[in-house]
Amino acid sequence: MRIVALAGGIGGARFLQGLKAAVPDADLTVIVNTGDDISLYGLRICPDLDTVMYTLGGGIDTERGWGRRDETFVVKEELEAYGGPLSWFGLGARDLATHLHRKHLLLAGLSLTEVTAELCRRWQPGATVLPMTDQQAETHVLVDDEDRPGRRKAIHFQEWWIKHRAALPAHGIVLVTEGTPEPAPGVLDAIEAADVVLLPPSNPVVSIGTVLQVKGIRDALGDKKVVGLSPIIGGAPVRGMADACLTAIGVETSAQAVGRHYGSELLDGWLVDTQDEGATVPGVEVRAVPLLMTDVQASAAMARAALDLAGV
Ligand code: GDP
Ligand code: CA
Repeated sequence: MRIVALAGGIGGARFLQGLKAAVPDADLTVIVNTGDDISLYGLRICPDLDTVMYTLGGGIDTERGWGRRDETFVVKEELEAYGGPLSWFGLGARDLATHLHRKHLLLAGLSLTEVTAELCRRWQPGATVLPMTDQQAETHVLVDDEDRPGRRKAIHFQEWWIKHRAALPAHGIVLVTEGTPEPAPGVLDAIEAADVVLLPPSNPVVSIGTVLQVKGIRDALGDKKVVGLSPIIGGAPVRGMADACLTAIGVETSAQAVGRHYGSELLDGWLVDTQDEGATVPGVEVRAVPLLMTDVQASAAMARAALDLAGV
């Protein structure tokens, strides 16, 4: 069976771990959000690509859900000692080696797709991991400009999410890019060849929503069996601040509202948690199953339920 999944970081990666356990022989391609990418110290940091790669490759810090196991933050501490302005970003020393190696390969002229494949040679994630695009396309958030009352400014998503813990009211979320980003090589081919496309319980706005902005992806999903899983349970995100993102785009924080936001043009099936039983999405088959990824078995059961709903 050929499966394509779109993914952000933690929610996507944990689900994919379960999916691999549920169907170990499936041919899996993951199209990963790169809107969260940020350049720091001249390095290209790709949080979602790395979370997927480390999680599937066994290198993730399972408690934190991001970054490397057995991590040390000595470099971050040293940077803080200089009073550098970027110290809010959780740059681990082991993780830094990934960013340095990525930079080295990018400088040598490899595309992000090629670099990702090269990094995956070490981690062996058991899936083809593709960035959504090789182009620069970074998510920014419109917030009030405290220096110019009544005016707004755009700040990088990571600054809003990590430095401000998504507490600054967001008036909008935009992908800053030159034109519409082109899909990375292999992305549309993988979708075309897929028997089923899964939308893990990733952030619907800044993870899945961003991947869907890449040229041709939404159209390519039109004739595919697509099943999504809700990241919202009982009116709140399971983890993180996706509610702030949903509010920014005018969508209520509920499993039903997110399913309706995706809508029947995209979805064939929508899985909600048993707490949200009774949710409806016009034109989409909705089922309620436990959606808490407490361990790999629980995530695997969710993956089976998603494949079941897709009828594959
Ligand atoms: P990020 O890029 O690291 O923020 O990760 P994703 O976008 O892939 O996933 C974030 C989303 O995962 C959040 O909105 C969470 O609500 C959701 N999430 C995390 N753990 C669980 C879980 O156990 N069950 C469900 N249904 N959603 C979860
Ligand atoms: Ca992310």
